[in-house]
Amino acid sequence: MSSELNQLHAEIRSCVKCALHATRTQAVPGVGPCPADIMIVGEAPGFNEDRQGEPFVGAAGKLLDTLLARIALGRGDVYITNVLKCRPPQNRDPMPNEVESCSPYLARQLALIKPKVVLVLGRHALERLLPGQGSISRIHGSLVRRGDVAYVPLYHPAAALHNGALVADLETDFDRVKAYLDKLLAPPPPPEPVPVPKQEAEQLRLL
Ligand code: URA
Repeated sequence: MSSELNQLHAEIRSCVKCALHATRTQAVPGVGPCPADIMIVGEAPGFNEDRQGEPFVGAAGKLLDTLLARIALGRGDVYITNVLKCRPPQNRDPMPNEVESCSPYLARQLALIKPKVVLVLGRHALERLLPGQGSISRIHGSLVRRGDVAYVPLYHPAAALHNGALVADLETDFDRVKAYLDKLLAPPPPPEPVPVPKQEAEQLRLL
């Protein structure tokens, strides 16, 4: 991890910008390599994340691990964070002022991690990263390009734990993610050989 990201994580851990600092056990900045080609953004830490200080370590995280394994990825390959860095009490939805307070941290994480692809988990991350793009049920699994970064909105794994029918959608969408990654992260083709002018080639042949 870069020292700048370490410093940012330390800043997040000591943040008191909104009321959530009073009810959290600890802030949950994020985890993973820096830089990283793939970044995953969820909603907010839950009970287990608040206790352990790491994102997606509870039941939703287990499903996320399974989906990543499906496309041959592990935690070591991706940087994972959330829109909110502190757990909202009783896992309620993030409030607009909390999202505003935390947003500069997410922007700085994106600038340091420099992902090529961002997996956007659930409607709160979608609203933050791709405002006005439409509902998650309409655009999940599609690729949305913004500058140099490709965003893929996906159902939140926690939603699939509540509504089992969404697991199949998530699996299909992760298969799509694999196809996007194969294209977007493919090494550039080797440079074309520079053609030698005909006369020069003939002279070379005579040597
Ligand atoms: N849900 C999230 O959005 N993030 C976590 O870290 C855990 C559950």
